Formats: sequence, structure tokens, C-alpha cells
Amino acid sequence: MPALKKDGTAVPGNYLHLDLKGTIPGYARMLEFLRFFKKCGYDGIVWEYEDRLPWRSWKGNWRGGFDMRIWEDCRTLDLEVIPLIQTLGHLEWLLKHDEYSGLRENGLISELCPLHPEGMGHLKRWLNEVAELHPESRFIHLGLDETWFLGSCEKCRRHDKMQLYLNHAKELCEYVLSLNLRPMLWGDMFWREQRLSLARELPPGTVLVDWQYGGEPPYDTTLELQRSGHTVMGASAAMCSWWEHAGQMQGPPGDRIRNVTGWKRRGDANGMGIIHTTWGRGNSLMNIYGPWHGAVPAFIAGGRPERWETHPWNRFMKRITRVMERGIPQELEAAATAVLEMETADEIEAQSRLWWHLALRYHSIRKDFTLRCDTRRSRRKVMAFTGHDEAMYRRHCIEPSRSRMHAAVRWEEEARQFWRDNELSDETEFFATHSDIVKAEMERYLENPDIRVDL
Ligand SMILES: [Zn+2]
Repeated sequence: MPALKKDGTAVPGNYLHLDLKGTIPGYARMLEFLRFFKKCGYDGIVWEYEDRLPWRSWKGNWRGGFDMRIWEDCRTLDLEVIPLIQTLGHLEWLLKHDEYSGLRENGLISELCPLHPEGMGHLKRWLNEVAELHPESRFIHLGLDETWFLGSCEKCRRHDKMQLYLNHAKELCEYVLSLNLRPMLWGDMFWREQRLSLARELPPGTVLVDWQYGGEPPYDTTLELQRSGHTVMGASAAMCSWWEHAGQMQGPPGDRIRNVTGWKRRGDANGMGIIHTTWGRGNSLMNIYGPWHGAVPAFIAGGRPERWETHPWNRFMKRITRVMERGIPQELEAAATAVLEMETADEIEAQSRLWWHLALRYHSIRKDFTLRCDTRRSRRKVMAFTGHDEAMYRRHCIEPSRSRMHAAVRWEEEARQFWRDNELSDETEFFATHSDIVKAEMERYLENPDIRVDL
């Protein structure tokens, strides 16, 4: 369905999804981001709340960090609000608590059992609460992606897996429609299980969202989902993937920019609404990604691809992508210095520039250290052939790591300052799960270069 603007004209909506399970800015900084998103050309925000709201339906799990005043600011800025809650899989934030362990599918903390007699009642009460909190919203996004363990408990095993999925999704969609709202769900389970024909059985008014984060459209899955007769939206990723963020601060920006601009152009050409996703971490039990500042180039590009073509950052991001893919420490460090020359138009861009500088420096430090570790054994063996001794080996091969250690300590001080200046959440967790690990390995290595470095 094309989104309806307040003046009644139909336009395909261009939405930004913000996943709150990672690091998020405090209220004032979040408001700055919202103004920036509006300027980029977005029509609304899909908020994935997880445990950032004090849910009445799930007491005792509130993580805090999100200020509900932001909905009023969205209204002022004419940014539509779409709430997203997960209603089958990706419920680690909830099911990890003993109190709700009875609802788990086959004892696993990521998924609800769709046949649990109390599950649907809980979900409907939760949907009532979501609708109450969002009296002006037109949609509720029900998640429903990646239900890896569906049909695995003793009770569910006796049924057809995708029939279980369909019955569950259908009942939820019908309930959302009864609240006078339109349900959205991710479409991947239908194509993963090659049961696309089942999507037709969802009630009229349902919106299927085809998320594809690699490369650019067209994708066969979009066409297949469109055959269901339901409205289909596309979804890109401005920030995603554990492999892009494992141990690093950022993935190469080129992949994200290609994906967001590809989807936006496809949406414009076909009158299809788009949701650009911004993930906070792979799931709520995995490591936190960097702050939204890293996705600013993708936010600009996903808002208006034609603006990105002539944006002064375009050539810098091409260079960063090349350099990150090659992974040579000196090139990463040179790029970190070069980005400081990027022109900025506002405070968000200024902070994003600083984040990219920090991210590239971190990559350089980490890469230099891991390369040094990778070559140490062969370098020690070389002594027998070239005639240099243990002292020279240490001086040439091990001691340079000491300066990288100092660089890592300095880096962390500056990055922590960035966290505080931008009022970012989860500082302790972020640094404990990123730079602290590298620093600890560097210390161990300096003490005894023969150990196995664990990075
Ligand atoms: Zn079950």
C-alpha cells in the first residue's frame, strides 16, 4: 500500500528502521538524529523496541534508555511512527528470563512455542498495549522472521512446520486488523521453506516485507511474495551482519550504500515502500554494533540516492571501502586521517566524521597486531638462516607491538569521550566486548610472544 500523506496524496513510504537493542543516543541526541532523518528525506521510523520500553505486558524486564517523548517529536517533525515487536522468534530479550521460560519452544530462549496454550493470550495483550501507546499509528510490524527452531518441541513436531507458522501469523494479523491497524511481517519464512503459496492465506490488508541485505534488487523473492496478492515492501540494511562487526567497529560502507540506494531506486520505479533497517546487534545475545553515526553515509544515500551521487562524502566512502577490503594497516591509518577533511553540513555529520576516523584507526591497530601475531612463528624460524639473535627478534618483531598497545589505550580514551559527548548508552558493555579484548591480548603477547593469541 502506498503510504498516505496527511494531505491525502499517495506516496510510497521511505522508512527507517531503528533497532534499539544496541547502543542508542539519549533523548536530546536522538532528537538531533530525527531532525537529520527528516532532512535526509524519510517519511517515518519503524521502532524495534525489545526491552527498551517498560512493558506492562512483560513486567520486570525494562532495560531503559528510550524516552517516549520522542513519539511526540516524531509527530512534530511529521515522521510516521511504526512500532515493531517480535511475536515468534528473536525473543531472547524476554525468554532468557526464568519467569517466561515456560513459553520457550523446545527449551530454547530465542523462540516462543506457537502451540503453548498461554502464548497467544500474552501476545494479544501485548498488541493491545502497543496499540494503546501508539494511537496515531496505522501499522504494527509483527517481526516473524528467522524462526529457526519452529516446530522442534515435542508437541509441535507432530505438525507441519509452516502450517504452524501460518496459523500463528494469521491469528496475529487478524487480531491487528481487528484493532483497526494493518499488520506487517518479514517475508523470509515463506521463501526459506519454499512455501510461498501459503502467504496467500494471510488476511487481506497484511503487508509482507522482503528483506534482502546483500547486493541490490531485483530479487526473485520480491516477485514471489508479490504473487500472494498482498502489498509487498522492500527492506535494505544501513547497518547489519555480525561478520561485518565481529571485532570491528564498522563494515565497509560501500556494501550498505549499494544496498540502500538499490532498494530505494527500485521502490521509486515500482511504487513500492521501503524500510531501511539499522540493526543494533545480531541478536540480543550478540555483541553490540557501533553507534548510528557509522550508518550516516547510508542514511543519506537511502534518503535520496541522487543526493548521494553528488555528496562530498561519496569519494571518501569509496576509498574507505577499498581500504577496508584490503585491510592493510598503513592504508587504514592514512584513510583515518583523510576522512577528517570531509566537509560537514551539520552536527550529526560532524560526529559521524569523527566516528569514521575512530573506526578506521581501530581497524588499523587491530589489523597491525593480528598480522604481527600471524607472522611471528616464521620470523623466529628465520633467525636460524639469517643469523640474528633472540634480542634482535624481540626488538624488531615484538617491541613494535608496545607502541600499538599505547595507540589502543589512547584510542579507547578518545572513543569513550565520543560515547559521552554523544550521550550513547551501554558504554561499559561496548568497550568490554571490543577494545578491552584486544588490549588484553596485546598485554599477553608482550609478556610472552609464543602464546596463542585469541582474536
Ligand atoms: Zn512447540
